[in-house]
Amino acid sequence: MKVAVFSSKKYDRHFLSEANADGGHELVFFEPKLTSKTTALASGFPVICAFINDQLDGDTISAIALGGTKLIALRSAGFNNVDIQAANKLGITVVRVPAYSPYAVAEHAAGLILTLNRQYHRAYNRVRESNFSLQGLLGFDLHGSTVGIVGTGKIGICFAQIMKGFGCNLLAYDIYQNPACLELGVKYVELSELLGKSDIVSLHCPLTPESHHLINATTLEQFKSGAMLINTSRGGLVDTKAVIDALKSKKLGYLGLDVYELEGDLFFEDLSQEVIQDDIFQRLLTFPNVVITAHQAFFTQNALENIAQTTISNITEFEKTGECVNTVSSEQ
Ligand code: NAD
Repeated sequence: MKVAVFSSKKYDRHFLSEANADGGHELVFFEPKLTSKTTALASGFPVICAFINDQLDGDTISAIALGGTKLIALRSAGFNNVDIQAANKLGITVVRVPAYSPYAVAEHAAGLILTLNRQYHRAYNRVRESNFSLQGLLGFDLHGSTVGIVGTGKIGICFAQIMKGFGCNLLAYDIYQNPACLELGVKYVELSELLGKSDIVSLHCPLTPESHHLINATTLEQFKSGAMLINTSRGGLVDTKAVIDALKSKKLGYLGLDVYELEGDLFFEDLSQEVIQDDIFQRLLTFPNVVITAHQAFFTQNALENIAQTTISNITEFEKTGECVNTVSSEQ
């Protein structure tokens, strides 16, 4: 099928072209994001391949439907950027990559915890400047500390296993209990109890209307004083302004982010020569106890190979049968 690949970077071209080595599909790579302003590029393509910051809202979907699109193949697990109902109403199927490497994201969350706790980001710069003082670099043992996991699906369970290895006590909050987590000794509690008892809170649930700003001024009040918050899931789970207030009041002791609610205007681009206009993001960067990565948790060789292979096989399955096992429904 003829596929318009949006938001494509050099690495997307590499891995998707390898997965499509038999030439089964005609891949056309576009660097711009798919938004209501760039839909002209999609005209005549039965398949649109999109990533997390492509804006597949009602307007975009109406325009690509007019242009002949029948399938939206997401290169991601999350689909909060797609108006699924609008797509289905216009006869467009939406497919995704439900699992590619939960380890990649869970390991990155653990990396953020270690960086914040032992302050590798500051130690690295100090040593390069011949400053060998340890003042201000005091950490705490992860062993024996309590970690609260919000969302215990594929990534949450991997993260639980990693933190179990460090000797942490594990609490979890989820709308469903994962038997594998129970077997590991994870204790399911209400969100308020998890927030009140955890030294580290890590978010691994999807962004939905119910989970939007799950971490807000009220829930931040329930945190243990000086606790650490890690978000490698979706930016919209956290009210960034409330988090800045909590950092300023020292209620929150550490913040590790791989995602940010307004990341669409920033992440995945080299803006090092630009003046960043987002004052909230810039304020976050001023805290010594905040570490931000630019949505790279998924970014491992293994994950990119799996994403590319599943994306190509999703398209092939749709071409052959008109259906796909990885179809997203509006009830999900
Ligand atoms: P999953 O579907 O396997 O698990 C999600 C879990 O969250 C499920 O157990 C579900 O019951 C639970 N959940 C749903 N709504 C909830 C709520 N309101 N409160 C608490 N729990 C809730 O998904 P996954 O593969 O583990 O991925 C989790 C999220 O990680 C994705 O939705 C995506 O947003 C994010 N993600 C981020 C990256 C990255 O690079 N940073 C990469 C992949 C996925």
